Amino acid sequence: MAKRIAIAIDGPAGAGKSTMAKWLAERLGYVYVDTGAMYRAVTLYMLEKGVSPAAEAAVCAALPAIRLDLTHTPQGDRIVVNGTDVTAAIRTPEVSAAVSQVSSYACVRALLVERQREWGAAGGIVMDGRDIGTVVLPEAELKIFLTASVRVRALRRLAQWQQEYPDRPQELAAVEEGIRARDRADSERKISPLRQAEDAVLVNTDELTPEETLARLLTLAKKVTTC
Ligand code: C5P
Repeated sequence: MAKRIAIAIDGPAGAGKSTMAKWLAERLGYVYVDTGAMYRAVTLYMLEKGVSPAAEAAVCAALPAIRLDLTHTPQGDRIVVNGTDVTAAIRTPEVSAAVSQVSSYACVRALLVERQREWGAAGGIVMDGRDIGTVVLPEAELKIFLTASVRVRALRRLAQWQQEYPDRPQELAAVEEGIRARDRADSERKISPLRQAEDAVLVNTDELTPEETLARLLTLAKKVTTC
């Protein structure tokens, strides 16, 4: 029988990590954990409670009141904060603009990383984020660093947004700038910055369709699970 391994997928904003991680988990019969959604949910909570994302002490003080649940339903994965489903609400530009600051705080990372490690320990998991291969699951049997150019990532994000929210248009330039700012903040922060783990396989998706990317990842996973 094939081994049930842990697969870490890291990379910059909009590289297609979530889609790939979800598809890969489905194909392998694994659990999928979107760690970005966890940081987004904490950020949304702060915005809704009027806690400034810039106020580290206030963010840390508000954390214990958050109960975060990830559930897998036939309608897809849901993220729930204190009983409220926030799966859609965490994707707004307001949350995207504030999430890098909130996720740079040690108190936030310690809380979420602990949960992520508990889930990862069982194996049979695909987890995506920024620090999965380097910090959360450094022993993961397969690590992927998924990337693409800023332009391609912005075009994909915009297409996805327009499909979901046709009545809330966004400019490509603004989406591109948002991605650049987030890449910068995520790569330059002191704790767990975004970087490729030494033993991660780099996959650039600029010239690949999602199906081609999935095929590449499945080949990599098969190599590890059958050896
Ligand atoms: O993956 P997504 O783009 O939804 O992640 C949102 C933000 O959450 C990232 O820009 C980053 O600031 C933060 N994040 C993180 N560590 C992770 C996953 C996400 O700091 N493992």
